[in-house]
Amino acid sequence: MIPPGETIGILGGGQLGRMLAVAAAQLGYRCHIFAPEEDAIAADVSAAYTCAPWDDVEAMARFAADCAVITYEFENVPVTPLLALGEVPLHPHPRALETAQDRLNEKQFVVGLGGTPAPFAPADTPADLDEALHTIGTPGILKTRREGYDGKGQWRIMSAADVDALDLPSQPLIYEGFVDFQAEFSVILCRALNGDVRFYDSARNVHEGGILARSTVPAGDPIAAQVKPARELAAAVAEALDYVGVLTLEFFATEAGPVFNEMAPRVHNSGHWTIEGAVISQFENHVRAICGLPLGDAGLAAAAVNMCNLIGEDAQDWATILADPANHLHLYGKGPPSPGRKMGHVTRLTLA
Ligand code: AMP
Repeated sequence: MIPPGETIGILGGGQLGRMLAVAAAQLGYRCHIFAPEEDAIAADVSAAYTCAPWDDVEAMARFAADCAVITYEFENVPVTPLLALGEVPLHPHPRALETAQDRLNEKQFVVGLGGTPAPFAPADTPADLDEALHTIGTPGILKTRREGYDGKGQWRIMSAADVDALDLPSQPLIYEGFVDFQAEFSVILCRALNGDVRFYDSARNVHEGGILARSTVPAGDPIAAQVKPARELAAAVAEALDYVGVLTLEFFATEAGPVFNEMAPRVHNSGHWTIEGAVISQFENHVRAICGLPLGDAGLAAAAVNMCNLIGEDAQDWATILADPANHLHLYGKGPPSPGRKMGHVTRLTLA
C-alpha cells in the first residue's frame, strides 16, 4: 500500500491528469506531472512538474526517482521510454497502452475475448483499402490506426469513389463498417490490485462531430438491457490485462446488442459526471486502486446526472452557467479556446 503523503507520478498533463491530481491531493498525496507541453494544465494543480519530451529517458528516470507509483492519463504515451521508470510500479500495466494504441490490435484483442466490434479490416496500403471496401462495403469510416482522438484522423466513406478525393496520411489505417446504432454508451470500471472490480453506471453518450457532447445517467432504453454483456466484456479485458485502475470501453447499442467501439486505458470524459454524481468518483477510485487502497463505492449519488462538455467558445459562458446555482462548473484552465477544444464541463444532479 502506498500511504497518503507519498508522490504519485502522472504521465500526461491534460485535464484528466488535472482531475486525477485534485482527487489525489484530497487523499493527501503529492502529484508529479511528466508531460512534453510547456502549458500542462495538470501541473498547475500539482506539486512538481517535469517538462520533457517522451523520449528523454534521463528526465524520465529522474521523474521516477521522485515517485512511489506512476500512472498515465494519456493513451498515446510511447511505451519504450517507460523502461526508464525502472522498479517504480506503473499502473495500469503498459500492456494496456500497447493494446489500446493501435485500433487494429485493440479490435483483434477484443474479438479474442468474445467481443463484437464493427466489421473491420486493415487498410495500410491502397490495395488493402480496395479489398476492405469490397468485403465490408459502404458506408464506412476510415481511421488512422494510431493517435486519432475526438474524431480526428477519421473520414466517412459513403461510396468507394469518396476515397479518391481524400488526401490520406501515409500511416497505417483501418476501415470499419458504419454501425447503425440506436445509442452510444460506455462501461467504466475500476479494478483493484487484488482483482476487485467496481462498475460505474453506464452513461448514454451523445457525440457531435466525433466529440463527446453530453453524458447522461440513467442511460435508459435500449442501453439498460445491453449493459450486462458489455460489462462482462469489460471485465474480461481488465482480467486479461491484469489491469489496475480505471478502464473504459465505449459501445454502440444496436438491435443486435452491444457493438464494441474502442477502449481507453484511463479515466474517461464519459465519467466526469462521477465527480459529483457517484459516491466516489472515477478519479478518486483510480488513485485508490493504483495506491492499493480499498476501492470506494461507485454507485450513484443522485437520481439522475447530466454532464455537458464545454467545447471551444462554450466556456466563455461561465458567468451565465454560474448564475444557475445547481450547476457544477469545471474549467480546465486552458489557454484560448479553439474549435473542438475541450475547455471544461458542467454537471447537474437531479436529487429526487
Ligand atoms: P472514435 O474516435 O472511434 O470513438 O469515434 C468517435 C465517434 O464517431 C463515435 O463515438 C461515433 O459517434 C462515431 N463513430 C466512430 N466509428 C463509427 C462506426 N464504425 N460506425 C458509426 N459511427 C462511428
